[in-house]
Amino acid sequence: MDVLKRAPIYPRTQPSRMMMVKMLKKIDLWPRSIEGYRSIMDAGLLNEIYSSAGQLKGKRVLHINSTPNRGGVAEILANLIPLLKGLGIDAEWYSLHNVPSNFYRVTKAIHNGLQGHPRPLPQSDWKVYEDFNRKLAKQLDPQNWDFIFIQDHQLTAALSFLPSKGKSKWLWRSHTDSINTKPEYQQRFLEYLQPYDGAIFTMREYVFKDSHLKHLMISPPAIEGLNPKNLPMSKIEARRIIGKFGIDTSCPLITQISRFDPWKDLPGVVEAWKLAKAKVPKIQLAIVGNFTVDDLQAKMILSQVRKAASGLPDVHIITNQAGPRAIKAFQTASDIILQKSIREGFGLTVSEAMWSKTPVIGGNVGGIILQIIHNKNGYLVNDVEDCAKRIVELIQDLRKRRNMGKAGQRHVRENFLLPRLVRDELKFMLEVSS
Ligand code: UDP
Repeated sequence: MDVLKRAPIYPRTQPSRMMMVKMLKKIDLWPRSIEGYRSIMDAGLLNEIYSSAGQLKGKRVLHINSTPNRGGVAEILANLIPLLKGLGIDAEWYSLHNVPSNFYRVTKAIHNGLQGHPRPLPQSDWKVYEDFNRKLAKQLDPQNWDFIFIQDHQLTAALSFLPSKGKSKWLWRSHTDSINTKPEYQQRFLEYLQPYDGAIFTMREYVFKDSHLKHLMISPPAIEGLNPKNLPMSKIEARRIIGKFGIDTSCPLITQISRFDPWKDLPGVVEAWKLAKAKVPKIQLAIVGNFTVDDLQAKMILSQVRKAASGLPDVHIITNQAGPRAIKAFQTASDIILQKSIREGFGLTVSEAMWSKTPVIGGNVGGIILQIIHNKNGYLVNDVEDCAKRIVELIQDLRKRRNMGKAGQRHVRENFLLPRLVRDELKFMLEVSS
C-alpha cells in the first residue's frame, strides 16, 4: 500500500486550537526480512510465523509508545516493526511528541507505583495523566487500524476516553515488573484495561489480581540478534572500542549498562564493586547509561552515582556517549555484565550480554529470573555482598566465565530472539480477532 495515501492518524474531528498540537509522531522504518534468522532458529517457528502472517496480511497494526528512542520499549519497537512490515503486515509506530514535562513527571511516578513504590499518587496527578490521555484519544482514529497496541503504562487510559473503538482491537503490552504493584495503582489500571480486547504480560506473576481480561498472553520481550547492535564483534575490536572510553583493557572489567533509574540500583553496583575490589585490586567498573526524555529522575540518580564514585579512578561513568556498537563492545569485552536491579520488567541488557557470550550477574527479581539460570549462564543475587562474592568468583575463573557465556548465548537463541516475540504477537492478534 502506498504509505502516502494512507488516512492520517490525526485529526479525528475538526481540530480545535488545542488539538492542533500533534501529540504523536510517526517513526519511519523500512521493512526487514525475517529470513536472516533461518540459519539460527528452529524452522518450525518460522513456519508458524509465515502461517499466521499470511492470515494477517495487509492488516493495519499501530504501536504507540512514549519515547521514540532510548530504553527497552523503543529498542523493541525499532526492531519489531520492520520485521512485521517484512511479513506483509501494515505496521506503524507512533511515539509521543510535544509532551509537557509535568506529564512525564506523573508517568514516572505511576511507573514507580506499578513497580511497588508505596507513595500514593495525588488526585491532581491522576488528573494530569487522564487529561493527557483524553487529549490523545481525540487525535486517534481507531477506524484506520485493525489492531492498536498500547505499549507500557503512559497511554493506557486513552481508550477509556474514546467514544468508539470502531473496528480496531486494542491490546495493552505491559513492560513493568508489577509483582508488587500497590492496590491504588492496580485498581486504576484494572479500570483502564476494561475496554481492552487483550493484554500481554512478560510473566504470569505480573498479571494484576482480579483482572478480567478478555484475552491474556504471557510473552517476554526479545532482542534483535541480527541488527548492528547485536551482531558478533571480536574481542580485539571490542577492546579497541572500549579503550577509547578510557578503559584499561589489560585489567578485568565489570559493566552495568542501564538507564539512571532508581530500580537499577546503581549505588549497589558501586558498593559491590568496592567489596570485590578489596579482593581483586585491579578490577575496573564501567557504568554505561543513557537518559530517556520521560525519565526525570535520571539526573538525580546520576549525581548520586557520581558522588559514590568520586575519587575512584577505576570507575568509569559513561553517559549518553555509547552508540550501538560501543554498547556491543562493552557487552563483549567485559568479563562480567551486571544488571543488579531491584525491580526489572525484563532487562534487554541481560539477553544482549548473554548473546555476546558474556556471563551476567543480575538481581534475583522480575524478568531477570527468566533469563539467568542461576549457576549455569550467570548468577542471581539478592544483595550487595552476594553480588561482590559472585564477581570475585567469576573474575578468578576464566573457564567458568566461558562456559556460562556459551550457555547464555544458547538460552537467548532458544528463548529471547525477536522471531519468538513476532510469533507470539501474531498469534495473539489472530486469537483476539477470532
Ligand atoms: N541502552 C543503550 N545505551 C545506554 C544504555 C542502554 O543503548 O547507554 C540500551 C540497552 O542496550 C537496551 C535498552 O537500552 O537495549 C535498555 O533496555 P532494558 O530492557 O535493559 O531497560 P529499560 O531501559 O527498558 O528499563
